Amino acid sequence: MTTLPHTDASAHAAQVIAELRSAFGARADAAVVHDAASLTELGVDTSGVRRGSPLVIVRPLATEEVQAVVRIADRHGVAIVPQGSRSSLAGAASATEGAILVDFSRMRKIIAIDPLERLAIVQPGVLVEQLAAAAEREGLFYAPDPVSSHIASIGGTIATNAGGMRCIKYGVTRDSVRSLEVVLADGSVINTRRNTIKSVAGLDLTSLIVGSEGTLALVTEITVSLRSAPGPTRGVSAMFATLEDALDAANEVATGQQVPAVLEMLDDVALDAIRSYDPTIEVPAAARAWLLAVTDARVGVDDELDSFADIFALHNAIGMSRAETPEELDQLFATRRALHPGMQAYLGGSLNGDIAVPRSALAEIVEEATEIGKRFDVIISIGGHVGDGNLHPVVAYNPADADHTARAHAAQAELLTAAQALGGTISGEHGIGVEKLPALDGELSPRVRELQLAIKAAFDPKGILNPGAKL
Ligand SMILES: Cc1cc2nc3c(=O)[nH]c(=O)nc-3n(C[C@H](O)[C@H](O)[C@H](O)COP(=O)(O)OP(=O)(O)OC[C@H]3O[C@@H](n4cnc5c(N)ncnc54)[C@H](O)[C@@H]3O)c2cc1C
Repeated sequence: MTTLPHTDASAHAAQVIAELRSAFGARADAAVVHDAASLTELGVDTSGVRRGSPLVIVRPLATEEVQAVVRIADRHGVAIVPQGSRSSLAGAASATEGAILVDFSRMRKIIAIDPLERLAIVQPGVLVEQLAAAAEREGLFYAPDPVSSHIASIGGTIATNAGGMRCIKYGVTRDSVRSLEVVLADGSVINTRRNTIKSVAGLDLTSLIVGSEGTLALVTEITVSLRSAPGPTRGVSAMFATLEDALDAANEVATGQQVPAVLEMLDDVALDAIRSYDPTIEVPAAARAWLLAVTDARVGVDDELDSFADIFALHNAIGMSRAETPEELDQLFATRRALHPGMQAYLGGSLNGDIAVPRSALAEIVEEATEIGKRFDVIISIGGHVGDGNLHPVVAYNPADADHTARAHAAQAELLTAAQALGGTISGEHGIGVEKLPALDGELSPRVRELQLAIKAAFDPKGILNPGAKL
C-alpha cells in the first residue's frame, strides 16, 4: 500500500467512497456509511484495541457486492478489514488506518439445510445460535459452541477457528466446516472444495482459510457439517480438597472410554472469588478445585455419569452433585458462570487469557500461574476447558491504579511465555489478532513464519486484507 500526501490522500479517499457508492447503486445510502460516529463505534472490536481510524463501512448483502468492494480496494491499494459481530477479544476485527470495513452482519441468510448430506449452507453473518437453532428444528446439531454464540457470526467463528466447551468431544470450528466460498484479494471468487463428506482433491485450502482471521480471503458462503442431535445434557460436578486431585481426575475422565461433552475446571482462586461474589452458590470451605463433566449421550447415559462419578470419587472428591436434567445441569453451571463476575468484583478489572497446554503440563502451568501472581502481586485464577488443555487465566486488577494495571498486563504476557515453555500455545481459541502478535516468535520457528508469510503473499500480494493482524 502507498502513502499519499495529505491533500492527495483526501481526494483519494473521496474517490474510493464515490466508487463504493456507485458500486452499491440505489442501496448506497444504507450500504456505504462514513459518518464520524459510526466510524468511531465500529472501528474497534470487543478487545478495545484501536489500530487506526477506518475510512468507510460497507454493508454488502451478496457475494457480488463483496467482489465489487474488493476490486475497488485492490485498484486503490486500500486495506480491508472484514467484520462479523466484532466480538474478537484480540483486536482482529478492529479497523486499520484508512481501511474499508466490510461488515457482514447484513448477510444473515440460512440458504439450505440438507438432512441427507448432513450439511447447512449459510451466509457469513448468520449467528452461531441462529444456525444451531435452525439445525435443531431439523433434528440436527451444529457442534461449535463459543460462549459468544448469541453474538458471534459464523463468518467470524470460521475466521478465528473458534472453540467452546464442547471441543473435547466435537473438536473446534474447523472440524465442522465442509467448504467455503471466498472472495480473493483481486475480487475473484472460489469454492475451496466440493461438498462431499470426503475429498482429498488438491491442497486443503478450506483448513488454511479457517482461522486466518481475515488475512487470506473474505468468506462469503459457508457449508458446515451437521450431526445427529445429541441427547439431553446431564452431568456431575465435584469439589476437591487439592488441585492435584482435580487435575488427576480430569485427565482420567478426558482419556477414558466415555468422552464427556464438556469437562470444565475452576481453581481455588476462582472458588474464593465465587464464594464472596455469590454466597448462594454452595462452595465448601475445604474446596480448592471444582470439576464438571457433562454427557449428551443418547444411550448409556447412566453408565457414563456413573463412570465420571467413580473417577471423581477415586480421586478423593469431597462433595458431588448429579444433574439428571438440563435444568438441573444449568444450576451446576451457575458456579462456572460466576467466575468472571466474581473475579471482576474483586478489584473492578479483569484480563482474560486463552492459553493451551498439553494435558501432561496442566499441573505445571497452574504452579507457574501461582508463582507469576506472587511475582507481579496480582490475583490470578486459572481454569476453563481442562478436558482439552485450553485454560482461561483471569487476572484481577485495579483499573484505577496504573501501576497495578501494568503489572496485570505483564502477568498475562508472562503466562503466554510460561505456556510456550511447557510446549503449549498463546491462544487456544480467541485468536492472535494484534494483541498476541509479539509472542508468536516464541512458538513458531523462523522457517514456519517465512512459509506463512509466503502463503499470505500468494493470497494477497498487495497486503490489503487485514494488514498487521495474525502473521
Ligand atoms: C463474551 C464473549 C465470549 C466469548 N467466548 C468465546 C469462546 O467461548 N470461544 C471462542 O473461540 N471465542 C470466544 N469469544 C471471542 C469471539 O466471540 C470469537 O473470536 C468469534 O469467533 C468472533 O466472531 P465475530 O463474528 O464477532 O467476528 P469478529 O470479531 O467480527 O471478527 C473476528 C475475525 O474474523 C474476521 N472475519 C469476520 N468475518 C469474516 C468473513 N466473513 N470473512 C473473513 N474474515 C472474517 C475478522 O476480520 C477478524 O479477524 C468470546 C467473545 C466474547 C465477547
